[in-house]
Amino acid sequence: MANLAIAGGRPVIDQPYPPYITVGAEEKTAVLEVLDSGELSGFLAKWNPGFYGGKQVQALEAEWRAYYGAAHAVSVNSATSGLYAAMGAAGVGPGDEVIVSPYTMSSSCACALVYNAIPVFADLDPLTFNLSAETIAAALTPRTKAVVVVDILGNPADFEPIMDLARRHGLVVIEDAAQAYGALYHGRQAGNLAHMGVFSLNRHKTIQCGEGGMVVTEDADLAERVMLIRNHAEVILRERPAPTLVDMLGQNYRMTEVDAAIARCQLRKLDDLYARRLANVERLTGLLAGLPGLATPYVAPDTRHGYYLYGLRLDAAVAGVERDLFVKALNAEGVPMVAGYTQPVYWEPVYQQKQLYGSVGCPFSCPFYEGQVRYDKGLCPVCERLYYQELMTTPVCHAGAAPADIDRVAEAFHKVYANLDELKAWAAAQG
Ligand SMILES: *Cc1c(COP(=O)(O)O)cnc(C)c1O
Repeated sequence: MANLAIAGGRPVIDQPYPPYITVGAEEKTAVLEVLDSGELSGFLAKWNPGFYGGKQVQALEAEWRAYYGAAHAVSVNSATSGLYAAMGAAGVGPGDEVIVSPYTMSSSCACALVYNAIPVFADLDPLTFNLSAETIAAALTPRTKAVVVVDILGNPADFEPIMDLARRHGLVVIEDAAQAYGALYHGRQAGNLAHMGVFSLNRHKTIQCGEGGMVVTEDADLAERVMLIRNHAEVILRERPAPTLVDMLGQNYRMTEVDAAIARCQLRKLDDLYARRLANVERLTGLLAGLPGLATPYVAPDTRHGYYLYGLRLDAAVAGVERDLFVKALNAEGVPMVAGYTQPVYWEPVYQQKQLYGSVGCPFSCPFYEGQVRYDKGLCPVCERLYYQELMTTPVCHAGAAPADIDRVAEAFHKVYANLDELKAWAAAQG
């Protein structure tokens, strides 16, 4: 009789894992109030009060400023929109390079391409999986204009040395805090750690309104430019001239009143949702302690991880099993687990083929671009090692999971470890 589910035994978890649902009665009431008001958006592409959006949008932004202690908070309809607007606000353009992380959601890098600039991938710190001042410094050139630093999985990057480096080289730093709700760095909230911070409210994030995002900054000029890009800048600037028209082509990145009303409810729930997530993480980390070759999430001193995902590293030589096989065995036991998070972003066809605008290869072959950017395999060895060999990620610690769910996840790990011989025999029989 087989023990492991992958070999035909009984899985530890034989029910679907609890989903993460954060919307309820409060959101229903708030949405109905907006519907009753009849005003589903308050935005106008005019230099009048409608430029700033409707009641819910403005209330959400005020509440976000208060929660984050930020001077400016500008809502947008996704974090992608927020990253695009932030990149435009930074004045990035043709010939510029933007240093980005290879281990992130694609738009953390695409935001440079949108402005005809060149994403330059820097490697990761092997413990946090984030860019560091060292890896950024190694990718600097005279063309570097900006850096997008992602707090991946919710773990804050080491921003103090990064901002020192940026000051010395005159770089604009954008923090992609889409995953970093609840995270703290040296007593400060993630999202507040760079010149601009971008949050996501898409339905997978710690808090959500379906689709949405927020840009925070201490800089009034940057905030103004983000607001212009959000709302048809080229029209507004007829009535309200700006000192420069650079990157002032507007989009429609405006949030609806319905989404803003939901996001307001979600922001009020954030502390509680995060506290329950953290309790699950601490429980799981405790239960997994001591399993050979398995590293639970690294948290730097004076830092709090956001745990959007719980990331583990497996050292196959110590554990005695390859990561991919280990993940398959966990999946068979009913544990949602992904090997490697996401592909290195430079694998995407746009980078491999260096084609984007029109048929002439811009921005990669733009006559103003004087560099030689690389996107070949081996470019970021730490990222590639994490992706191919070591890292696995799971959402199991979300606030919708009960302690008993976490206990069963840990039980599945222990079961696989206790039956490695059976697992390897099963794999050998598969050929
Ligand atoms: C989710 C996510 C985004 C994009 O968020 P959207 O709101 O879906 O556009 C960007 N960066 C990171 C790191 C993300 O996790």
